[in-house]
Amino acid sequence: MGLDNVSLTNYEDIAYHMKKLMHDESYVRYIYGMVESSNRKDPEETWYVIQQMIHISELKGYSSVQAWGSALAGGFYLDRGNAMAAYENLLKAYEIFISEDMTEGQAYCCNGIMMVYNHYGQFENALEWGLRGIDMAEEHDLGELIFSISVNMASIFIDYEMYDQAESLIERFFMSKLYYNPETVILRNNHKARIRLAMSFEDDALELIERTESIAARNKVEGLRHLILLTKADILSSLGENTDAEACYRESYEYALKHNNHEKDEILKKWGLHYLRLGRLEEAEQKLMQAESLARNSEKRFMLSKILTHLTELYSLKGDFRKAYGFSKMNNQIMSDILNSQTSEAIYRASEKNTQAAEKSYKELYESINVLAETGKKITSELDMEKINWILYEEISKLMKVDSVAICTFDEDSGCLDYEMFIERGEKIPGMKVKIGDKISFAEHCITRNCDILIKNSHREYMKYIPENNISTESQFEILPKSLIFCPMIFAGKTTGVVTVQNYEENAFSYTDLSRIRLLAGYISIAVENSRLYREARHSSTHDQLTGVYNRREIHSIGHAISQGLRKTDDPVSVLMLDVDNFKSINDSYGHHTGDAVLKKIGELIKKVFEGSGYAGRYGGEEFMIIIPGKTHEEVVHLAEKARRIIQETAIEIKSLIVSATVSIGVDIEDARSFNLSKSIVRADNALYMAKQGGRNRVVVTQQ
Ligand code: GH3
Ligand code: MG
Ligand code: MG
Repeated sequence: MGLDNVSLTNYEDIAYHMKKLMHDESYVRYIYGMVESSNRKDPEETWYVIQQMIHISELKGYSSVQAWGSALAGGFYLDRGNAMAAYENLLKAYEIFISEDMTEGQAYCCNGIMMVYNHYGQFENALEWGLRGIDMAEEHDLGELIFSISVNMASIFIDYEMYDQAESLIERFFMSKLYYNPETVILRNNHKARIRLAMSFEDDALELIERTESIAARNKVEGLRHLILLTKADILSSLGENTDAEACYRESYEYALKHNNHEKDEILKKWGLHYLRLGRLEEAEQKLMQAESLARNSEKRFMLSKILTHLTELYSLKGDFRKAYGFSKMNNQIMSDILNSQTSEAIYRASEKNTQAAEKSYKELYESINVLAETGKKITSELDMEKINWILYEEISKLMKVDSVAICTFDEDSGCLDYEMFIERGEKIPGMKVKIGDKISFAEHCITRNCDILIKNSHREYMKYIPENNISTESQFEILPKSLIFCPMIFAGKTTGVVTVQNYEENAFSYTDLSRIRLLAGYISIAVENSRLYREARHSSTHDQLTGVYNRREIHSIGHAISQGLRKTDDPVSVLMLDVDNFKSINDSYGHHTGDAVLKKIGELIKKVFEGSGYAGRYGGEEFMIIIPGKTHEEVVHLAEKARRIIQETAIEIKSLIVSATVSIGVDIEDARSFNLSKSIVRADNALYMAKQGGRNRVVVTQQ
């Protein structure tokens, strides 16, 4: 039946609304108690807290709090299949909400009352309340409620085999992708799989439900497991995979039993039907009778009617016509009650509402995409990462309340998350690098699971993202912003990083904000990739591909720049020419490939030695030039010696081969005032010649 596929007891949200209403400390304590108890899934304690809430609010005359208490109690009863008690509480809450002019509460109650009516098989009334709820929720842009009511209404349509309406209701809601999260995706897929199955596209349905199963597993969504399993069981049964189907029914039922889920009757009914189709009448009878008593006890008229139909069929197959007749009479009575109301009018209005809503959400989608696309264009036309960060910060600030934004890139090879910078309250703050697995982070969670994160209060919600053995990191969350959004950046099917938007206040972001960031993350991933390619292209135009040091043109232009910039100082400028000794024989003995590898290694060693003190470039073949500004004679000679020694001492491993090489270095040291690059090169070259003449593997400095 899927009566309340979306649970009404979403305490965390309610708690938020409660908090807005209350200033009294003791209430706040209760709210936290409620949240906690719902987290622990302890119905008894939750119930106790709700009772306390009603009690104290009545005592103190806080009518709005009392209304929420009743509404929660209604949801609680509904979850447990006590529709009558649910109805009484919801209606009471609804009336208080009206007198207090609290629309959100009213919409919440409409959702519940719709489900109550459906429970009793009163289709028209159910739709009436549902539409009223959607109206109110839309008017006040209450996304989560729109979602909840839509999904529940779609379930009702499916119950009545009105698949088109159900599908368009679901699709309309997801069209804007505003409320995408694992739970909503799972519910949508489950509904869609049911619709596929009803239309006999079993393979499609199976593919979809299995995908949904893994979404649930990946995101650790436990609460919907029995629904997924039930749909899967029905599909397998329809495909004739009877053993697998049976296992799924059993698991679904046991799960529902364990969690005291009120959909046990639905599961038993379908399980019984499965046996009925196979002609296993004894087992069918057992399951259906069990379902019948559950549905009767919780007064689910529509469900009961369906079960009675199957029981009638079962007993006629068994040849027990007296029982068959008895059940069919019972069913007729219930059906005539159910169908007493005129349903066609309500159906018509629901469809009309649907069309209007579809038009509205298309329009909204179009407009918001237009705005975001403009931002996207700005972002993607920029190549400098810092500018990209700034544009992002400024554009997002126009859309939502934000304290800080950051782009974090992910390097799969090194497993590193790299926040180049944060832009926080209009200032650039240095970023950081984190290795995956080193420190628990939301970004890591987001990347490894490839999912969005919307956190309304990180101080309370971080537990979900931190394994239990890492609780000691608790204090780090004290200084974190409370509201967080993380969206993965995906480029060409690969997760390339995360975009995060943060606010120190709690509850700063909505699902609409999340969907905007998700959209922007798409553009940012392109911008980041462009920027990376640009940097790579720039790098390859200035660097030697084989050795990684500057190429000849670049080292020349660096030399010229230095000679111009330092003209006014007395600092020395040195030019080193370095040539590999007897390189020809390395090529001759081991081949050109090995020669290349040796050059590459020597390039690396040179880079390392002179990093931070000078500029190294490949001058030609196996010859390197190094320019060192601002170092004394001794320092330069020391560096040159160091390079020579390290190269000599390094055993260069190439596959199974170990090769060693030496170099000769010619050094020219000049005053900056008289420095001339070409002349220095000639002098350093002469010194190099002397080094070769002197027996190689040595450093020779020109005499001034
Ligand atoms: P020395 O400098 O000690 O006098 O002897 P050498 O053997 O190094 O002399 P020379 O400069 O005449 O030879 C350099 C050789 O380096 C010639 C060329 O084939 C080889 N060579 C130049 N560029 C590369 C390259 O990129 N890869 C490889 N494998 N060999 C190169
Ligand atoms: Mg040589
Ligand atoms: Mg040479």
